[in-house]
Amino acid sequence: MYMDHSATSPVDREVFEAMKPYFVDKFGNASTLYSMGRDARKAMESARTQVALLIGAKAEEIIFTSGGTESDNIAIKGVAYRLKDKGNHIITSAIEHPAVEETCKYLEKNGFEVTYLPVYEEGIVRISDLEDAITDRTILITIMHANNEIGTIQPIAEIGEIAREKGIYFHTDAVQSVGKIPVNVEDLNVDMLSLSAHKVYGPKGIGALYVKKGVRLEPIIHGGGHEKGLRPGTENVAGVVGLGKACEIAEKNLSYDAKYITNLRNKLIKGVLDSVEQSYLNGHPIKRLPNNINFRFSSIEGESLVLHLDSKGIAASTGSACSSKKLEPSHVLTAIGLKEVDAHGSLRLTLGKENTAEDIDHAIKSIQEVVKTLRELSPLWCAAPDAEK
Ligand code: PLP
Repeated sequence: MYMDHSATSPVDREVFEAMKPYFVDKFGNASTLYSMGRDARKAMESARTQVALLIGAKAEEIIFTSGGTESDNIAIKGVAYRLKDKGNHIITSAIEHPAVEETCKYLEKNGFEVTYLPVYEEGIVRISDLEDAITDRTILITIMHANNEIGTIQPIAEIGEIAREKGIYFHTDAVQSVGKIPVNVEDLNVDMLSLSAHKVYGPKGIGALYVKKGVRLEPIIHGGGHEKGLRPGTENVAGVVGLGKACEIAEKNLSYDAKYITNLRNKLIKGVLDSVEQSYLNGHPIKRLPNNINFRFSSIEGESLVLHLDSKGIAASTGSACSSKKLEPSHVLTAIGLKEVDAHGSLRLTLGKENTAEDIDHAIKSIQEVVKTLRELSPLWCAAPDAEK
C-alpha cells in the first residue's frame, strides 16, 4: 500500500509504453540530421507541447532538465549570475526543498544575501513580510508553490504580482503541485517554474524548467548548446517522451483525480484525528495539496512509526524523502513552530490515484494499532500525567 507519492510515484503503464520504443528501436540522437534523429526530435517537440499545455505555457518556453533539482539550480543561479551587477539580494522562504535552500546557501557563500521568509504555524508566507523584505538590491524571489512535507500552498499569484510591479524576477518550485492542482504560469505571474516527472507518474531523472519568453538566464552548465544553451547534453529522449505523456495524462485527469484523492485524504485525516488521542495535523487544514497528510503524535518517534507501518504493508515517510537520513528535525516542521520532540513524532502520508477507500481503512486501523503499541513502550508517554494523555 504505497502512500509516499511526494517522494516519488509509480510510472504509469501508458507512460512506460510510450517510452519503450525510444530505448531500442528509436534510439536516435535528437540532434542528428538523418531520419532517425529527426524522429527523436519530433517526439521531443511533441512532449514539449504536452508539458507546456499542462502549465499554460508556450512550447518554446520549456527547457528539459534532469529533474526538479537541476531546474531549481538553473533558474536561481542563472538569475543570480546574470543580474549580479544589478543586485545581490534574493528572497526565499524558510521551508523550501533542499534543491532551493541549498542553492541559496551556496549563493550566500558567494557574495549574495538571502532573506528566508518565515511561514508561521500555518506554513504560509505573509505578503507583508515579503513587501518588507524587498530592497532595491533584490533581483530574485524564489518561493515554492506547494510544500513537499506539509503540502501547504503558497499565494504564488499574489507574490508574482508584487514581483512584476517591482521588476523582480520570480521563480517557483512547483515540483509538488504540477499535476495535482491547476498550475498556470500566466495566472501565477511567474517568470520561471520547476517541475519533475517522477512526482506525476513519470520516470525519474527528467524534468523541466519553464522560462518566460524574454527572461535571460546565465547558463550554469556548459557544453553543446542543447536546450537553448541552458541544459546542454545529449537529450534523454525516452525520459522526455515519458514526461510529456505523464503531463498529458495529468492534464486529462487532474480535476477527477484531485477530487477523488481529496476525499480519501479527508477520510484518513478524520479517521485518525477522531480515534487517536493527542494526534494533530501539521500545516494548513485547507490550503494544502489534495494528497498530503502530515500528522504529529505526541511521545512517539516518527521513524519507529514508519517501520511498524511498513510491517503492516504501508509505505509512508517521516519528513521529506531527502531528509529522511538526517537526524536533525525537519527544517519545515521547526519553521512552523514545532518543538524538536514533536517534529520527530511526525508522519507524512501522501496519497495517489491508485489508493482506495479500503487502503484508507487499513491505514487508519494500522496507525491506531501502531501508535498504541509504541506509546506502551514510550517512557515519555508513560511518564505523562493522565490528563495529558
Ligand atoms: N522540489 C521539491 C518541492 C521536491 O519535492 C523535490 C523532490 O522531492 C525536488 C524539488 C527535487 O526534484 P528531483 O527529485 O526531480 O530532483
